Amino acid sequence: MSEYIIKQSALADFFKSLANGRRLLSPQGVGDKCKLEETAPEKVSLDFTNTHMSPKSLLFPQTERLMAFHNEHDKPNGYVFQSALDSGEPTVVFGIRPCDARGLSIANKVFQNDRFTDPYWKGKFDRTVFIGLACDAPLPQCFCAAMGGSPFGESGLDVLAFRQTDGLGFKALTDKGTELLKAAGATEADLAGEIKSLEAKAIESQGVKPNYQPIDNLDLMDLFKDPHWEATAENCLNCGVCTFFCPTCHCFDIQDENSERGGVRMRNWDTCMSWLFTVHGTGHNPRPTKTERVRQRFMHKLKYIPLKQDGVRGCTGCGRCVVMCPVNIDIRSVALKMAQTAPTPA
Ligand code: SF4
Ligand code: SF4
Repeated sequence: MSEYIIKQSALADFFKSLANGRRLLSPQGVGDKCKLEETAPEKVSLDFTNTHMSPKSLLFPQTERLMAFHNEHDKPNGYVFQSALDSGEPTVVFGIRPCDARGLSIANKVFQNDRFTDPYWKGKFDRTVFIGLACDAPLPQCFCAAMGGSPFGESGLDVLAFRQTDGLGFKALTDKGTELLKAAGATEADLAGEIKSLEAKAIESQGVKPNYQPIDNLDLMDLFKDPHWEATAENCLNCGVCTFFCPTCHCFDIQDENSERGGVRMRNWDTCMSWLFTVHGTGHNPRPTKTERVRQRFMHKLKYIPLKQDGVRGCTGCGRCVVMCPVNIDIRSVALKMAQTAPTPA
């Protein structure tokens, strides 16, 4: 059995146990102030909506120092390099939403795969335990179920927690998660039926699910060449807000910040919505107008990532870009337009 319960009266001790020897992070604040931050065990709350920003910065900070270099005596070839990799503290995140954990697992395949491992991401990933809190009351902008996820989704989590009348129920999903629950004194229980029925109710509350399935079967080039892209991109400001808020977007730029005898190498979030992101040293830009850039964003989420990740879409339906886009460009409408693309006659 992989399910456990902790009664309301024992929750304070449970959170203390999580924080024992680890940094405990949980959502704090309300509305657009809600963010994951270091939390004393007695301050953990179950009453939050969703964090304003996605949690990707835990593993992929907005700005991150990769290394420092200096040349003390200004000699040719006299540079000394110092890695900024650190061992960091073991961390437990309590209360990440299933859509966001799924977003991290999609980005994880970019930062760690059979060809490449990003040591900066990996170090943080390996020392973090993720405990999700299921959404029993999804927000109006949430559409995880239409994107193949669930308010009780398990992808990217070590433990899925959910509210019960008298405390929390848990499903352990990895060995790390099981160990943590056992160490916290959780009691085994058969909760499979309860989870199934709560999940069905939460999915139901997201309303009618549009059918994006045709995108999966449409030819990539038919989607790419469809004439709707120009109209779809017309209002876009290329501000990049959608990509900065997205839990799966992972574009970055690396810059050296030099001083007289040394400097630091920084990695910063970047965005495919920016003209500068793709301009080549020659001045040529393969995505010269916003039509190509907007198409790239949606094709990446809904076609390129699924092709590379066994059908998993690069959008988790968290709804952040829908809420934050200043000109109301809505990925749900764009996905429907894509799904209606006319295939080239054979
Ligand atoms: S948030 Fe909206 S306007 Fe800004 S880049 Fe994204 S789609 Fe364009
Ligand atoms: S709803 Fe928008 S922000 Fe959220 S995962 Fe999908 S594309 Fe990213």
